[in-house]
Amino acid sequence: MYRRIHKALSTLLTLLMRPQVPGLIELRDTLDNHNPMRRALLSVLALACLAGAAPKKPKLVLAIVVDQFRYDYLVRFGSEYHGGLARLLSQGAVFTNAGYIHVPAITAVGHSTVLTGATPSISGIVANEWFDRDEGVHVTSVSDSHTQLLGGSGTGSSPNRLLVSTIGDELKMAGAGQPRVIGVSLKDRAAILPAGHMADGAFWFDPRTGNFVSSSYYYQALPAWVEEFNARHAADQYRGVTWLGHKMPDDNATLFGEIEFSPFGNELVEAFAERALASEQLGTREFTDLLTVSFSSNDYVGHRYGPDSGEVRQTALATDRLLEKLFQAVDARVGAGNYLVVFTADHGVAPVPEVNVARKMPGGRINPAAIRAAVQMALVKKYGAGEWVAGAWDLAVYLNREPVARWKLDLAEVESEAALAIQALPHISRVYTLEGMKRGWGVRDSVSQKVANGFHWRRGPDVELIPDAYWMVGTGKGTGHAGPYSYHTHVPVIFLGAGIRAGQYHASVAVNDIAPTLATMLELETPSGSMGRVLTEILVN
Ligand SMILES: [Zn+2]
Repeated sequence: MYRRIHKALSTLLTLLMRPQVPGLIELRDTLDNHNPMRRALLSVLALACLAGAAPKKPKLVLAIVVDQFRYDYLVRFGSEYHGGLARLLSQGAVFTNAGYIHVPAITAVGHSTVLTGATPSISGIVANEWFDRDEGVHVTSVSDSHTQLLGGSGTGSSPNRLLVSTIGDELKMAGAGQPRVIGVSLKDRAAILPAGHMADGAFWFDPRTGNFVSSSYYYQALPAWVEEFNARHAADQYRGVTWLGHKMPDDNATLFGEIEFSPFGNELVEAFAERALASEQLGTREFTDLLTVSFSSNDYVGHRYGPDSGEVRQTALATDRLLEKLFQAVDARVGAGNYLVVFTADHGVAPVPEVNVARKMPGGRINPAAIRAAVQMALVKKYGAGEWVAGAWDLAVYLNREPVARWKLDLAEVESEAALAIQALPHISRVYTLEGMKRGWGVRDSVSQKVANGFHWRRGPDVELIPDAYWMVGTGKGTGHAGPYSYHTHVPVIFLGAGIRAGQYHASVAVNDIAPTLATMLELETPSGSMGRVLTEILVN
């Protein structure tokens, strides 16, 4: 609307400035240059045009994902934030009830949602890893046997399993490839999936060498600035350093892996992001560039120590300081007001079951081996001997389709048998099957909707189970985050920058709304699989 008003005002102003236009002669004569009324009218129109002018597009979009950062971390530790998180909270548009609308709430899926707006049912990123029925092998969300790792040895990774476009892809397609798109993280999937197919590069940490690496998908060889960064051996500085009583190893064989489980991993990501900003000259040209940065240490620390630990609090406070450092670097290079920040997380996390039980809350652990065994036993009993389970991860069970085809069994029936066996185990709230989901089977509530949003018909598991709240699939220590409950899915969503109406917004929104909102602000096509809505309430115009 403002564009039409702005255009009309501009046209009138132009006409008044050019008194030779026929039809305006009378008005011109009345309002000659010395006429105070004409001067006043011109001033008013000029001001109106300025006020209504389209906000200029940002030179850089900085998309920050913190890996495993529950919304309540903003509130619980809020008084202790004085850096970047404080800046986001005080100057940004803060959504207090943003969440994911899919299951499983895990890293690859969350990271693939943020800048596509798509659910796994369409994006094809259904988990961190799954059983690929076409290839007959276990794959990860970014594994790609046709690529090589750059800066390390072995197979590389790519976004080829992502079936939809990202904001970065839309920027690239609209700008004839000129905008620059870079992704950075400790984890490959967290660097690759937010950036997208057409990204110039994605970089992640190799815990075997302490280097940042990439893939032959992007480059023939690592860019010189990455080689230079690695040559400084930044990770070595943490050898023997202690945090909250945890001493970093003295030997490089274990040091780099342990760095990930400390706030130091995030320091490396931030330093690398700053270097990418400078070396790729992001946000300094006439195009809008995109830098995606995913801080992974919060996730490693959270899995090991749990959301109620001092370690998680310490890592959140360190993230606050690191974000301020990054913002100051962007302020200096791109200029305050010239960039747009979007901040979110890829999922939340469950309390450690034992911590919950100790405070009279429900909770416990379900042995994944018991799930697999229950399915195997039930199908052997019903259909005969054979290997019936192709793979089982988190909440997902993939059946071996070979005997189903060989014996001409009804897949829906076999899946149902498997589901009944899992449902009979303790602390299983619900079980869904792929064939059942295709037929619209299931309770129609938000949990079922999240499960449906997570089921891709080719890639989805045959059976998906939902444990009772606070119960997790997994043995040992620590905690996890795959399920549909609030503590899994409720995460921060904050926008900060020019064109954003700061304040708190309490309505429920989906993380899927980020991508179409960015597309609108950047005047891009909406990413292809977007399921979100435009957050018009935060837009100044
Ligand atoms: Zn994660």
